[in-house]
Amino acid sequence: VFRFSTQISHLALDIGGTLIKLVYFSANGDSIEESRDGGSIVVGNNGCSVVQGRLCFAKFETRKIDDCLEFIRLNILHHSSGVQHPNGTACDKLSVKATGGGAFKFADLFKEKLGIHFDKEDEMHCLVGGANFLLKTVPREAFTYLDGQKKFLQIDHKDLYPYLLVNIGSGVSMIKVDGDGKYERISGTSLGGGTFLGLGKLLTKCQSFDELLELSHHGNNRVIDMLVGDIYGGTDYSKIGLSSTAIASSFGKAISDGKELEDYQPEDVARSLLRMISNNIGQIAYLNALRFGLKRIFFGGFFIRGLEYTMDTISVAVHFWSRGEAKAMFLRHEGFLGALGAFASYKE
Ligand code: ADP
Repeated sequence: VFRFSTQISHLALDIGGTLIKLVYFSANGDSIEESRDGGSIVVGNNGCSVVQGRLCFAKFETRKIDDCLEFIRLNILHHSSGVQHPNGTACDKLSVKATGGGAFKFADLFKEKLGIHFDKEDEMHCLVGGANFLLKTVPREAFTYLDGQKKFLQIDHKDLYPYLLVNIGSGVSMIKVDGDGKYERISGTSLGGGTFLGLGKLLTKCQSFDELLELSHHGNNRVIDMLVGDIYGGTDYSKIGLSSTAIASSFGKAISDGKELEDYQPEDVARSLLRMISNNIGQIAYLNALRFGLKRIFFGGFFIRGLEYTMDTISVAVHFWSRGEAKAMFLRHEGFLGALGAFASYKE
């Protein structure tokens, strides 16, 4: 339940290396229902001092920050009665919660273009705050993905902690969460969503994440990955539990075949890359869960995008390495953890 004492407290931003995430509040009956990423959460109740409405979500590429400024100016400032300057620009006093590196990098730009001052919140604090908010308040938020099946989980609030939060953005952060505001960043890897997108662009000439995903959807990683069966003449290495289809070396066939990049289909390259990144993160996550005796691992960040192949690869990696002991779990609002945490900090 959010109580709004100031006019602009209905917007929070998470400005990351690749994407800007916005969470904004829209009261019932308000016309700003547009949500770039097609999602909203109903919040509030009918208590007389509480505004009821929806949390809406939007995202923009950080390199196209002007689109984001325009969206805020037209859809959010414009709808905030009493906060807009008569000449169409916003007045000086507006303060919004902002997190991510861009809260520092772009503070002057937002001030200059929109008259918005950033009330900066710590990035890890917001990620954890957002994850806890979702897990505790939003029904059917967390789910597992195994054998092509999504299974929603009923989270017992008393039994939520500790858990491992793995946020896969441009880079990857792994955070051990012990309670509200109680957490420690225990690990991370620079091989994250930015690596997938960056290498993918170089290798396939794709121009966008969506294009790259679409390609990967039609590819076959076995064309380019070296499998156990490729080394063992088609049979399993059963003594140590490796099936013939297990990947022995990501992209490994590219050397043995003596082929050039042009000889491979971009679809297969994209698929192999997606698999490599997802597998690696799943494995590192599991190792960190093992290190701290954590049974539950929640994965967030915009890299996942609800994509079945990505979730399946991560789930299989966690299942395989933990011998079924640990579980990979996903969140419906995976990409908005930081922005939601910044939003939730209005009520702290
Ligand atoms: P950050 O805060 O570092 O920007 P995000 O959680 O927003 O991290 O995730 C960014 C990653 O999400 C990108 O590196 C890319 O792999 C993936 N991604 C998903 N959708 C898009 C998109 N529309 N444009 C660019 N990257 C996207």
